[in-house]
This record gives sequence, structure tokens and C-alpha cells, in this order.
Amino acid sequence: MKKEAVKVRELNPSERIKNFDEVVLGYTEEEALIEANRCLQCPNPICQFGCPVGINIKEFISWITKKDYRAAYFILREKNDFPSICGRVCPAEYQCRRACVLTKKTASFASEQAINIHFLERFVGDYGVKNNLEAPAGKDQKFVKFGFKVAVVGSGPAGLACAGELARQGVKVDIFESLHKPGGVLRYGIPPFRMPRDVLDYEINELKKLGVQLIPNFIVGKVKALDELFSEGYSAIFLGLGAGVPSFLEIKGENLGNVYSANEFLTRVNLMLADKFPQFHTPINIGKQVLVVGGGNTALDAARAALRLQIINGFSPNTTILYRRTEVEMPARRLEIEHAKEEGIKIEFLVQPVEFIGDEEGKVQKLRCLRCRLGEPDESGRRRPVAVEGSDFGIDCDIAIIAVGLQANQVLTNVTSELKTDKYKDVIVNPQTMETSIKGVFAGGDIVGGEGTVIEAMGMAKKAAFSIINYLKDERT
Ligand code: FAD
Ligand code: SF4
Repeated sequence: MKKEAVKVRELNPSERIKNFDEVVLGYTEEEALIEANRCLQCPNPICQFGCPVGINIKEFISWITKKDYRAAYFILREKNDFPSICGRVCPAEYQCRRACVLTKKTASFASEQAINIHFLERFVGDYGVKNNLEAPAGKDQKFVKFGFKVAVVGSGPAGLACAGELARQGVKVDIFESLHKPGGVLRYGIPPFRMPRDVLDYEINELKKLGVQLIPNFIVGKVKALDELFSEGYSAIFLGLGAGVPSFLEIKGENLGNVYSANEFLTRVNLMLADKFPQFHTPINIGKQVLVVGGGNTALDAARAALRLQIINGFSPNTTILYRRTEVEMPARRLEIEHAKEEGIKIEFLVQPVEFIGDEEGKVQKLRCLRCRLGEPDESGRRRPVAVEGSDFGIDCDIAIIAVGLQANQVLTNVTSELKTDKYKDVIVNPQTMETSIKGVFAGGDIVGGEGTVIEAMGMAKKAAFSIINYLKDERT
């Protein structure tokens, strides 16, 4: 048996930085078969415990080895509505791959030997897309007869997954989305070089085929309140509001011109076509030196998008990430860190920003920083960065992007006093049912428990959808 996992094909770094094309090309059938055959088919497949939604990993891999990709697809679909999306964005090295028996248990993330479960998932998910495979509609189509309709607020992975589950059971679903396009972070946050838009559009179109109606440019809480949706005949409501409010460094000079939050920067590029300015009317003011502050997926996405924009706009690539800790503590996916380095993005570790300094026009010109060392672990278990006195230094920049965390979207919760939230403004739910403090209102995804992952959001939404079905059944009797 091949010892190391089959490497996935990728675009060459010097070419891919000139555009936003997808970087990872995925496995061919031959590669998928070699990788699937490396799986030991463990009697106790512990990889499954590493998957937040408990996919039967052993079984779907086993179907690949038998070349029955259809059967593999439906095993995946039992737990995951969008395998071609998750196969691209899941941080598998912290989840199923890390749990795989082939990973040495001392590692904090998966080793090279662990089965590339996510690339196999993507292979099978893409097979499903290419062959138009759709999970069968549920048996309880009686819901059609009863005319129940459910409102889903938010069209991120949580909203889409909940809508899909309900629609397959014959429930009429309307999704209300505040932005002009659906997909949540999958569209406005994650750039197309990681999440190709045709894959996302395909999944959304499948929902439309099931009768799900998408209502864009509709902010629930501003255009209509939850009460009004109920009085318009919705029997239940699912909230997939997400966490889209950026945190800031809270340092001097942060409101200078050309200092962006990563969310604003990525939204301008991904959703408002800033990369095509002036053909489209969203400027981004990309410059010679870009600084990105943070160490998560958002920081990596912003940096890789900025570097591409520099090249597209005729600048030499010069993008630097500043992170307070070291590479080991970086929460971003390992693959993204590797890709960023290959693309020529510099990463300065153990650096703490102190003050932005502007020019006479009020635009950012420099970031003053301190060097750090690692101290004792904090509540998250990661070693805390401690600033080193007298280690002051400055870095020039024409634009700075802050990617240091996200908080709950609060437009709706702020105007709905009966909806209980915690100190972070996340919606409180009964973890068994995902029901909120308002009867008939359920929630899931990043609005519950804060910024998480795509698969966690979908997992919560699926659980909420099952509770909504039970709730509707009770309503029917
Ligand atoms: P969202 O995706 O945020 O969607 C919420 C939607 O609700 C939005 O479209 C919003 O406009 C809409 N909305 C909010 N309030 C209202 C309202 N009142 N009325 C109508 N609509 C409303 N996770 C991974 O697993 N892998 C990754 O590689 C990864 N990379 C990421 C990169 C970036 C840049 C970011 C920001 C996050 C990343 N994540 C990643 C995290 C992941 O995207 C989120 O955990 C996931 O999108 C949460 O899904 P959601 O449906 O809860 O929320
Ligand atoms: Fe295969 Fe690893 Fe899961 Fe064992 S733990 S069944 S080797 S993927």
C-alpha cells in the first residue's frame, strides 16, 4: 500500500496568482481509486467521530473502491447535503483526517499518511453534480396537502441546508436573504479560487427545482418582523443569520482611509466585482503594499485575493500577513497556509499591531507594531502572545485588512426582544431541538455558538429541519 496520501493536482502557483480560478483541481478517477484503496476499512472507524455530522466515511470510501460512485454519493448525502462544497472547504485536517487511525495521535493536525477523506468526498460530490444525482424526496409529502410553509432567514450554508431538508419532505420553503445574491459566506466571503461559483450555483438551483423560493434584498427585522411572517401564514421560521459583523483591533488610526475589515474587502471583491473596477463601480484602492492582520481562513482568503488584485492591477505582488502567534497556532486550514506561502505571501509571526499612521490625506501609510513571544496558554488552549517591551517597529502599507474575528449579525435579534441571546448576541437554542425562546422559531449555524465551520452550520440546520418537521406534524394533529 502507498504510504502517503495521493497528492491532489493543483494549478501552478506562478500562473494561478494571475486570476481567481480554482486552485485545487481534485482527484481523477484513477487517483481517487488509489486513495480509497489506502483506507484500512477499520473495524472501528474512528475517522467518523472526527466528522461533525458523523458521515459514514468507511462505507462511502468502500463504495469508491467498488467504483459504485452513485452509492458512495447517497451515503454522503445521508448526512451532508452539499458534499461538493464541503469536500472543498472542510478543515479535514482538524476533523476526520485528524481522527483517522493513520494520523499519529501526537499531532495537532492530520499527518501526510491520513486518508484524504475530503478530496474523496469532493470527487464523489462532483460525480453527483455531473450526473445530476438528487437525494430522493421524503415520504411525508402530506405536508404539501396541508399547505405548510416555512420561512428561512439567511441563505448561507445553514439556511440552504435547512431549506433542502424541508423541501424534500414536501414543505413549501421561502428563503429571505438580505444581500442581492444567495450563499452567505460561501459567496461573499470565500473567493472563487477556493469555492467555484458554478458549484455553489448548482446546489442553489437544485433547491429551486424542489420549489424553494429565494427572496433577495429582504432584511428580516427591517422589511418585516418575525410576527408579520407568522401572520402571513408561515408555520415555522428558521434563522440562519450567520456571524458577519467584523471585530476590530481597537487601536489608534484604525478608521484611516484604506483600512478595511476583511469582510468588507472580500464582499467588495467577491460580490461587488471590485476586481473589475472601473467596469463595475466598486473601488478597492489596491496598492503596492498590502498588510493583512489575522491568522484564520478569513485572513488567508483576504491576503490571497489581495495578492491577485495587485497582479491584475499591474503592481508587483507584495502582501504580508501579520499574526500574533506562530504558525502552529494559526487557526486557518493548513492547505490554505501552504497555498498562501507558495503564492509568495509573506507571513510575519509574533507581531502585534499598535497604531496605524496616516498621511496628510487621511490614508493609511504605516502600521506600528511590537514583537511578541509566546506566554502561558489562554482559555482556548493556545499560548498567549506577550508583547516584548521596546521591540517597536513600523511596516509601510497602502492598504490594511483586519481579519481578527466575526460576531453575530444582530439586525433581527436587536428588534426581537422575545428572542433570547447570550452575551455575544448569539441566539440561544435548546440544543436537542434547535428551537429558540420563541415557539416555532428555530436557529442554526454561526448565529448559534459563534463563528464555526460550513459543515457545523449545515449539521445544526439539518437537526433544526427535523425538529421543524416534528413541530409541523404536531400542528397537523
Ligand atoms: P452565513 O454563511 O454567514 O450566512 C448568513 C446569511 O444570512 C448571510 O447571507 C446574511 O446576509 C443573511 N442574513 C443575516 N441576517 C439577515 C436578516 N436579518 N435577514 C435576511 N438575511 C439575513 N468554514 C469552513 O468550514 N471552511 C472554510 O474554509 C471557511 N472559510 C471561511 C472564509 C471566510 C472569509 C469566512 C468569513 C468564513 C469561513 N468559514 C469557513 C466559516 C463558514 O463560512 C461559516 O461557518 C458558515 O458560512 C456559517 O454559515 P451560516 O449559514 O450560519 O452563516
Ligand atoms: Fe479509513 Fe482512516 Fe477511517 Fe480507518 S480511520 S476507516 S483508515 S479513513
